[in-house]
Amino acid sequence: MAQPFLDRDLRVKPINAWIDPPRPQGRAIITHGHSDHARPGHGAVLATPDTIAIMQERYGPDCAGSFQALDYRTPLDVDGVTVTLYPAGHILGSAQVLLEHEGQRIVVTGDYKRLPDRTAQAFELVECDLLVTEATFGLPVFQHPDPQTEVVRLLRSVEAFPERAHVIGCYALGKAQRMISLLREAGYDVPIYLHGAMLSLCALYEERGIALGELRHALDVPKEQFAGQIVIAPPSALKDRWSRRLPDPVLCMASGWMSVKQRARQSGVELPLVISDHADWNELRQTIADTGAHKIWVTHGAEEALVYHCRQQGLEAEPLNIQAFEEGEEEGD
Ligand SMILES: [Zn+2]
Ligand SMILES: [Zn+2]
Repeated sequence: MAQPFLDRDLRVKPINAWIDPPRPQGRAIITHGHSDHARPGHGAVLATPDTIAIMQERYGPDCAGSFQALDYRTPLDVDGVTVTLYPAGHILGSAQVLLEHEGQRIVVTGDYKRLPDRTAQAFELVECDLLVTEATFGLPVFQHPDPQTEVVRLLRSVEAFPERAHVIGCYALGKAQRMISLLREAGYDVPIYLHGAMLSLCALYEERGIALGELRHALDVPKEQFAGQIVIAPPSALKDRWSRRLPDPVLCMASGWMSVKQRARQSGVELPLVISDHADWNELRQTIADTGAHKIWVTHGAEEALVYHCRQQGLEAEPLNIQAFEEGEEEGD
């Protein structure tokens, strides 16, 4: 294929627009609302309606000069480059970006997963020549279990310790709502308690059509009422004073990283739940094969292993080594 019209910093050269730029840019296409992808301060932002709503909820209504909402599967001509967004299955509103120019098709996946998730529009496969894929869990050791088996383990523990509260560390955007939704799917229909940091995004999901059942703010609830209950809190709250006001809490954490036993132990997690919003090793490999792309750029994660795998398959593959994070950790794993 000809030289890609996308450069390695994910700048769409003919239109000088950046995908998920870490620093403020004039034109930005945003794949989803996590803070390592969506940042405030851009001139013009193009994104799905859900992603725009999330950005405005988190950063304020004027967090970009202007917003243009683009629905899924609706091609938009931007000065000769056709931009189309497709669901990425990662969180509400998350999109893969298809760019078409002079016969070349480039897909930037953003973060994605292919497992069913009632809180995110289902991943759609898009064929392309160049695929820019994330690789958060791009090592063969990462093979995510069925999330419902993790929820069953959680509910067994809740049953076994009726005098204790189960507090689950979840990122406020995406993971919290997915966790709640998985619990509802498993038939858990009593109120779920929320740390204050979870309230606004859960409300946003509900406003945008994702039913989460009865949720209660954990503030002002007497300590003894938490016995036998499930509380959703940000990961940081597991360690601080906040969780100490719960009765003998069982500390849980819902994350793809929880398959790494040492990581669970270090964070003091008693009940690790391997629930990920990213593709695992098999899904990454499958997706690369399914898109039919001959050229693969790997970013966001364990790049070398996936690059090696692609080359073994006869594909042209390179790591991007984008310095995406200014403030520490990936969100929403
Ligand atoms: Zn993400
Ligand atoms: Zn990410």
